[in-house]
Amino acid sequence: MRMSFIAGNWKMHKTMEESKELASQLVQRLSGSPYRIMIAPPFTALGAVSEVIKGSSILLGAQNMASSESGAHTGEISPDMLLDSGVSVVILGHSERRHTYGERDELINKKAILALSKGLEVILCVGETLDQREAGTTEKVVTEQVEKGLKGVGMSDLSKITIAYEPVWAIGTGKTATPEDADVMHKVIRSVIQNLYSEAAASNMIIQYGGSVKPDNVKALMAMENIDGALVGGASLKAETFVPIAEYDA
Ligand code: PEP
Repeated sequence: MRMSFIAGNWKMHKTMEESKELASQLVQRLSGSPYRIMIAPPFTALGAVSEVIKGSSILLGAQNMASSESGAHTGEISPDMLLDSGVSVVILGHSERRHTYGERDELINKKAILALSKGLEVILCVGETLDQREAGTTEKVVTEQVEKGLKGVGMSDLSKITIAYEPVWAIGTGKTATPEDADVMHKVIRSVIQNLYSEAAASNMIIQYGGSVKPDNVKALMAMENIDGALVGGASLKAETFVPIAEYDA
């Protein structure tokens, strides 16, 4: 039985005070949630939010991480720095990192291996662009992203991996994949995991959907057989919209 995992990615929004305020509303309102819940504030607010959510069941996530342990990497944040700030999960390969900042599968894979070696959980984001979908290459693109992203990840680390299927054309656009279309891709991802690892690994893998998830579409998406949670951007920025998503009626 896979437990639903709802994660909020705050992106480059919120000062430290604003982050603390939202985190404290979520602690109050989500204490009884039956699902795994994670929030990923900006780096500058991680330490402060960690204090606010201490003792609650909300997990602290980071939005990115360096591919090296330490050293001369101006502007980067290392895994130890994340651990130091109370982070337990790191989002890697988000489409904004891939498409705005040119991160390639090999770099994302290096980060994933490093994060796992440090005991961090990883949310590995994959997804096709509109051009790729229209060219009919969605399955090929996503399969390659999963295979390359997980290269060298052993079976024993697989329980620390969540895959987020996020069609790029649905992120921040208000366009959502239909639950049926999303489920098709989640099934493809599950079969990639089966080919790489085993049937049991595939059936245990948590695969989130991301792309304009809102309170009014979450239930239909989560009802699909292969969708095990959501990675939420815009709607995670307010308790009024994140709480109903994080407490959807199964
Ligand atoms: C995201 O940033 O991962 C995302 C899915 O954003 P949004 O929910 O705003 O589409």
